[in-house]
Amino acid sequence: MKNMSLEKIAQACGGVYHGSEEMKQSIVESITTDSRQAAKGCLFVAIPGERVDGHDFIPSVFEKGALAVLSEKELANPAGPYIQVASSLEAVKGIAEYYRQQLDIKVVGITGSVGKTSTKEVIASVLAQKYNVLKTLGNFNNELGLPLTVFRLRDEHQIAVLEMGISHFGEMHRLAKVARPDICVITNIGQCHLEFLKDRDGILRAKTEIFDFLKEDGCIILNGDDDKLDTIEEVKGIKPIFFGVEGQRPVYADEIESLGLSGIACTIHADGESIRVTVPIPGGHMVLNALAATAVGRALGLTMQEIKAGIEALEPVGGRFHIINHGDIQIIDDCYNANPVSMKASLDVLRDAKGRKVAILGDMGELGENEEQMHAEVGYHAAKNKIDLLICTGKISSHMAEAAMANGGCGEVLQVPTMEALLTCLPSLIQSGDTVLVKASHFMHFEKVVKKLQEI
Ligand code: ATP
Ligand code: MG
Repeated sequence: MKNMSLEKIAQACGGVYHGSEEMKQSIVESITTDSRQAAKGCLFVAIPGERVDGHDFIPSVFEKGALAVLSEKELANPAGPYIQVASSLEAVKGIAEYYRQQLDIKVVGITGSVGKTSTKEVIASVLAQKYNVLKTLGNFNNELGLPLTVFRLRDEHQIAVLEMGISHFGEMHRLAKVARPDICVITNIGQCHLEFLKDRDGILRAKTEIFDFLKEDGCIILNGDDDKLDTIEEVKGIKPIFFGVEGQRPVYADEIESLGLSGIACTIHADGESIRVTVPIPGGHMVLNALAATAVGRALGLTMQEIKAGIEALEPVGGRFHIINHGDIQIIDDCYNANPVSMKASLDVLRDAKGRKVAILGDMGELGENEEQMHAEVGYHAAKNKIDLLICTGKISSHMAEAAMANGGCGEVLQVPTMEALLTCLPSLIQSGDTVLVKASHFMHFEKVVKKLQEI
């Protein structure tokens, strides 16, 4: 890792180096918090977790060839050098901030209430047509995941596409300090994390902390269809580039055509050029994500042909509208997460599916005091979309079921209170030819439902 000597690392995190003078200039080859991934030449960061304490693994990582460890505790007889810090988590951010600034790369930082991972995947797929790209793996988007992603950067990378997720004020400021984005993308200002951020204006304020460390010659890319983002006129003298499907934004799409579960086609326009593109993942929201990627691609000098190739090469991520063909049922595995906006978007795709349309929906978390109303709205939406069988599981989902029943549009509505009951009755509810949408907030563990469906 470029310029990452133990001495520099200790300085970057305000830690105290314990070890020999000659080892001080040794360069670490990687940084990890997972003792199982500790390898020769690495710096192992011991983090005291809720269940396991990383400090317990210090002897074993030295045995695996670790160069040094970072520890919150004083170590009696360590088998190698160590850096002592007050907080490993704080230290990791300081080290990542220092490392990022050693690298001559462009960083694209992506935030927003919904669609960060999905947008990150399209942006990375597009930029990979021209550059060597490193992207956040999975959902490593928080104050630990982001630094760990930064540590994976090497000299050969030209661009980092980083997902940045928050739930509190001040958090994005700290993430941005680490990432130092050249390009900031905000997908939307929705209704997640209302518990801490109060209302959409609070969310807007919290997310726009991403601009605090934006480079002077940086670029801001915003969803212009979002009424809150649309109010941003200028930041540090930089005018945002808006994308959207409502009206002719600098980057926009029209002639949108659903291809059912195979995806969605559209014509994308940017800088006076137009191109027909097939986004291989369904849902109107994927058009917006593709537009965000187009705007980033244009900012980094890609041709429309390269952008199209990148969008069309996109691969689905597990749990996010991943279509699984199992026997003669089609499962829409969207179990990774949910909120009112994404629930409605997924129900809209299900509406166009063939066969019997089944939606297995669970509770959505972190919605604050209006959570019952927001669940009811999803129920109304299911009814409006004439879902044949709506199954609602969880505590607050009863409001979804009641609203759907009151509206009368669904063929059948079932309220199944617990996961256990749901898994038991599932085989008797599913018929051949069904298309089954599975969606709930992460804490509901609806991956169990997807697994069960694959056993039917
Ligand atoms: P998290 O906060 O958990 O990291 P995220 O912001 O990364 O979530 P994704 O995992 O990309 O969001 O998507 C969550 C859900 O929202 C998925 O079901 C996906 O289909 C849907 N979705 C993706 N992009 C958008 C979008 N631009 N607008 C609305 N819904 C979207
Ligand atoms: Mg995510």
